[in-house]
Parts: sequence; C-alpha cells; structure tokens
Amino acid sequence: GAVIGILGGGQLGRMLSVAASRLGFRCHIYEPGANPPAGQVADAVTTATYEDAQALADFADAVDVITYEFENIPTTALDLLEGRKPIRPGREALRISQDRLTEKDFLTSLGLQTAPYAAVDDAATLAVALAEIGTPSILKTRRLGYDGKGQARLQSAKDAAAALDTMQGAPAILEGFVDFSHEVSVIAARAADGTVSAYDPGENVHQGGILRTTTVPARLSTAQRTDAVLLAGRILNALDYVGVMGVELFVTPQGLIVNEIAPRVHNSGHWTQNGCTVDQFEQHIRAVAGWPLGDGGRYADVRMENLIGDDMDRVPDLAGKADCALHLYGKAEIKAGRKMGHVNHILRTGRDQIS
Ligand code: ATP
Ligand code: MG
Ligand code: MG
Repeated sequence: GAVIGILGGGQLGRMLSVAASRLGFRCHIYEPGANPPAGQVADAVTTATYEDAQALADFADAVDVITYEFENIPTTALDLLEGRKPIRPGREALRISQDRLTEKDFLTSLGLQTAPYAAVDDAATLAVALAEIGTPSILKTRRLGYDGKGQARLQSAKDAAAALDTMQGAPAILEGFVDFSHEVSVIAARAADGTVSAYDPGENVHQGGILRTTTVPARLSTAQRTDAVLLAGRILNALDYVGVMGVELFVTPQGLIVNEIAPRVHNSGHWTQNGCTVDQFEQHIRAVAGWPLGDGGRYADVRMENLIGDDMDRVPDLAGKADCALHLYGKAEIKAGRKMGHVNHILRTGRDQIS
C-alpha cells in the first residue's frame, strides 16, 4: 500500500492515521514535538523541526503523498517538500489560510460575506481601522492564532492601546463584531477529479474561544443549508482543492458570513465518525490518495462534545453510557484548555425504522 506522509502529530494526525490504516495505507508522521498522539498509531514518525532540511528530504522520499493536520507550516519547509512529493491540499490553500488578511481578501474576491476588516500594524493604522469599523470589534493576529488565542476584544475605542499591546508587535487585523444568532460550519471534501461532497452543516458552540460542542442537524432553513454547502463548494473549486476543508460560518439575518477556513480536517467535523458511513478523516485520506469520495450522508443526529482538560474526569462515567462514542487522543498530560478527546452523543438514529 501507499505511504501517506502527515505533517503534524496531534489528534487530527492521529485520527487521519487510523482512517488511513483502515484503508490499507501506511502513515508516516512528521512532528517536532516528542511523543505525539499520532505517533502511537502511525507506522513511522520523524521527530525533527521544520528547519531540518535533511529530515524533510528523507521524509518526502519515504512517502508517496504529503498532507497535513495544521496550516502553519513554514514556507521554506513546504518549498523543500514540494520539490519531491505532491502536497495535498495544495500550496494556495495554505498560503491563503495562513494569514487572516489574505484569507478575507480571498473570500471577498469570491463574492462571499465576511466581517468588516482592516489591516492593523501599529497605533496609527489601528486608529484608522477603528474610525472605519468602530466597536465592538476584535483585534486578531494575522498569523498563528487558534482556539481564540491572539485575540483581543474592543468594547470601545478606549480599549485600543491595551488590545494593541497584546499583539506584541505582530501584524494584526481588526474585525467588526458580527451580531450572529449562532455559528455553523461546513465540512466539505473535493477529490482529485473535482468532485465535491459536503457533510450536513453542524452547529458550533464555543466557550472561551474553544469549540465546546458541535450538533447536527444545525438550526438552518433549507435555503441556509443549501447556501452553506454551495459557498463551501465555491471555495474548494476556486482553490482547485484536494482534501477536506472546514468552513466556519456566522448565521445572521443578512445571510451567512464566513469567519474562517481551515484547509484540513476540522474539530467541528468529528461528529461524522459516528454519524456517517465515511467520516471526514477517511474522506480526506481518500481525496489525498486519489480515490473517489465516499458516502458522507448523515444517518444519525449527533452532539460532539470536546473533552478539555479536567473533562477527562468524566470519562469513566461516559464510558458506561448508552449512545456515547468516546474518542481519546492518548495525551499523557492533562492541561487546562487542552483538547484531550471528544465524545459523540448519538441523539437519534434511523434504527427504529431499520430494526
Ligand atoms: P479556531 O480554533 O476555530 O481556529 P481561532 O483562534 O482561529 O479559532 P476564530 O475562529 O477567528 O479564532 O474566533 C473564535 C471565536 O470567536 C469564533 O468562533 C466566534 O465565536 C468568535 N469570533 C471571532 N471573530 C468574530 C467576529 N468578527 N464577530 C463575532 N464573533 C467572533
Ligand atoms: Mg482558526
Ligand atoms: Mg475558528
């Protein structure tokens, strides 16, 4: 079987490896950190930094195709890898999603709605941005933010200096605060032949900037559901994308507003593991390996709940519950705010009709 190289050894890399292994592929993980969760299930692990040219070259030579579980891979490493093996999804998706400003420009160019935004580099540009966008608003680092890190909220212009301080000189973007009723995301896949398949949108609840739960079905009208899926398809096609992408959306009376895109499998797509015949991880592996996409139809109502930090105390209880599917990441150390696992609560299935 072919060898799939995965950049990043976290829980997403781990679940990708499990899905790949089920299809008879072997996985090789590249991860700078020691004892990565994915390393426990993959066939091979390279422990090296993204500056290690020799390790990157050896990794590329050992695999047939390269994919990734996070979008912040240094450009120099990508240049080196790309000269040796195909990277899927491709470079353009990475370039765009690595920078919130580039990302919003790209989405706007497709005719999609985003929050009002402006680039901020210093006090002067923040003053200009505030005059245009006003408050409430959110200042975010352009690069490297996740789980709400690298963000500061401004209730009034008085908060400007303090917010700018938290950016520590990094290039930033000011976003107008979107008055949304709820958040949803579309997990969509595109195969090498251009076929697109989207999962039913999920409804997301965040707490302290971290995803808490995703519930399917989301509260969406038929028109909104269709809009959500079509706009995701538009993004994938524009990028000539191959693989799975997560598209985060705000639901407002003025329509769907795109918050951000993630060129990879996504936390809000974990429900597919117990709600679909082919989950997002297998779908990604299929696309990356040049296979046809699988059946992503939903056969259950599911609530995915992240197990963060001390939520792990609930595992013994959850393990004995009906309609509860546990997915633990094998992380040795429990830390506050750290994603340790998730549980898919099966709310309703087609069982009654079937049995
Ligand atoms: P992720 O872990 O999803 O990558 P992130 O750190 O990239 O998160 P965002 O998704 O930009 O951060 O923001 C985190 C959450 O903060 C959003 O899901 C939403 O709840 C809220 N938020 C972000 N931007 C806005 C906005 N412009 N208006 C209102 N709420 C926002
Ligand atoms: Mg993000
Ligand atoms: Mg987000």
